[in-house]
Amino acid sequence: MVTALLERGEISYYGREGEVEALETEFGAYVGAPFTLACSSGTAALHSAFFGLGLGTGDEVIAPTFTFLSTVMPLFVVNATPVLVDCEPDTGNIDPAVIEAAITARTRAVVVVHINGHSCDMERIVDICRRRDLRLVEDCSHAHGAMYTDTRVGTFGDVSVFSLQGAKLTAAGQGGLLLTASREIFERAVLLGHFRNRAFDDVTSDEYRPFATTGYGLNYRMHPLAAALARRQFEDLDAYIDGREANLGRLSEGLAAVPAVLPPARKAYVTRHPYFNYKPLYDAEAMGGLDRHLYIRALQAEGAPVGDSTSLPLHREHLFQVRDDLSRTYGRDPSRRVYADGDLPNAESYAERALRIPTYTDPRPRLIDQIIDAFDKVARARGALLDYARSNP
Ligand SMILES: *Cc1c(COP(=O)(O)O)cnc(C)c1O
Repeated sequence: MVTALLERGEISYYGREGEVEALETEFGAYVGAPFTLACSSGTAALHSAFFGLGLGTGDEVIAPTFTFLSTVMPLFVVNATPVLVDCEPDTGNIDPAVIEAAITARTRAVVVVHINGHSCDMERIVDICRRRDLRLVEDCSHAHGAMYTDTRVGTFGDVSVFSLQGAKLTAAGQGGLLLTASREIFERAVLLGHFRNRAFDDVTSDEYRPFATTGYGLNYRMHPLAAALARRQFEDLDAYIDGREANLGRLSEGLAAVPAVLPPARKAYVTRHPYFNYKPLYDAEAMGGLDRHLYIRALQAEGAPVGDSTSLPLHREHLFQVRDDLSRTYGRDPSRRVYADGDLPNAESYAERALRIPTYTDPRPRLIDQIIDAFDKVARARGALLDYARSNP
């Protein structure tokens, strides 16, 4: 598909056409969304989603502290105020109980992320948003193909976004998709990052049509080659998820019987889990307080492909710990909360305990069993490892 495009010289589009249109149609049908808009990145799609909702100055948006920064940062660009909240201790997903507690008279929306591909607790989250009249954004960048009970993620929110960055479950290299059932959100999103032909194709309402020539200042169009790459990958998505469910389901079953490590939580409402990441949690207490890095080194010495999970919750980052930031462009909210280390303890503890194991897609039962054996062996070597730690401070 990619070389055919190159041979035809099809390397940019102006309207709704070609590979980009085909990707939108296919992915939109898979998730079940009436409107799909391809963008140049997931971050651009999130910006378009916030703009699509009409968020602006004075609006608070409740967001998880434990996420990749792009879930939150485009809120600054629409002058909205992110309100970071803590996660569930076991899944790393935003905790519905703390969403409700964070609502103020200024709250307009909630953005959730299905961390590692494990669906958030959507029934409770949707219920809160309905009762409190809040818009809901789903960042599904870890969760292509994931399901909550019998429903695909990406259909619960007023608008949802899937990144197609190179590491994601459907990869364009760079790219993102915005999905919505709302014509208004869709047209507004189109106008932020598209103008003239694409906007003429898609912006048809009396209210927004007059803005189609100029758009709203950005070019967020997806590259045709990126769309072609994503379409090819998308063909394999379901087989890919099946492979991961088999391998990592087996790994979780095995690890459940091993001390000092908790397999990633899988709530009963998760009926399809694409395992964007596989992150078991280390229980240092069960190892007599052994340092996580030593634990990981011991596993690695046994040949287990276990790594450190390095991402910090956002409230630990500089921008969220200072009153003033460098921007001279975005509006400033003097009441924006300044966070300190320790403020959102579940997210911090999750980040400190998480281990990372590669997400194997092809059948690897023998390798999976060897990894389980390595965890078991290291757990049984607890005494020796503690002696080692004491003599090598
Ligand atoms: C990758 C990712 C994004 C951003 O996507 P880009 O396409 O890299 O801009 C947003 N949110 C989450 C949770 C992600 O993992």
